[in-house]
Amino acid sequence: MRTPIIAGNWKMNKNPQETQDFLDSIKGKLPDPSQVESVIAAPAIDLNALVWFSKDEPLKTAAENCYFEDEGAFTGETSPKALSEMGLNYVVIGHSERRDYFHETDEDINKKAKAIFKNNMLPIICCGESLETREAGKEVEWVVGQIKAALNGLTADQVSKSVIAYEPIWAIGTGKTASADQAQEMCHEIREAVKNLYDEQTAENVRIQYGGSVKPANVEELMSKEDIDGGLVGGASMDPESFLQLVNYKN
Ligand code: PEP
Repeated sequence: MRTPIIAGNWKMNKNPQETQDFLDSIKGKLPDPSQVESVIAAPAIDLNALVWFSKDEPLKTAAENCYFEDEGAFTGETSPKALSEMGLNYVVIGHSERRDYFHETDEDINKKAKAIFKNNMLPIICCGESLETREAGKEVEWVVGQIKAALNGLTADQVSKSVIAYEPIWAIGTGKTASADQAQEMCHEIREAVKNLYDEQTAENVRIQYGGSVKPANVEELMSKEDIDGGLVGGASMDPESFLQLVNYKN
């Protein structure tokens, strides 16, 4: 049985004080982690507060990015080793904003996935097609290609523990959600790709999120789909009440 995983992605929003205010508002209100895993991915400057909060509360913590080297002359980058030592659980990699604005390649994302495992954290690996690719009918080929590249060289055990986030670019921050059926279809294709690359058990284990304008009004329908194990949520994760409604979607 895969435990559902709802992750907020704050992007480049909230300073440490705003983060603390948010955490104060959700204290004692997160679901039982055996029912739903609650995660927040926050800017690097806010991670310390998240880690402290997670010592007493059922929150898992995520960085929004890291570099693939542990240390060295890489000005402005964040070390996966330092994130791990700080107590982080996950790192989001391959978000479409990082691929588009910061020119991250499939190869970079694969190196980051390996660095994250080496440092005993887990990756949330994002993939997703543009509207142009979908309109050309090439979305499955595109997304499966991204997944193959990201997982290259990872073991079945590592892939079993990974989280994959399917986020069609045309649905991110646009208010345009993929229909629950469209989201299910692609999440199913991703699971099939993992089965072909590894084996049935690995495909059964890997958790696949949908991301793209997920909100309290549509989370239940999306989560009712067989191959959708969670959501990666931008806009609707920033307000504490909305985040609580998302993670408590079962109640
Ligand atoms: C995201 O940040 O990954 C995302 C899916 O954003 P939004 O929920 O705002 O579409």
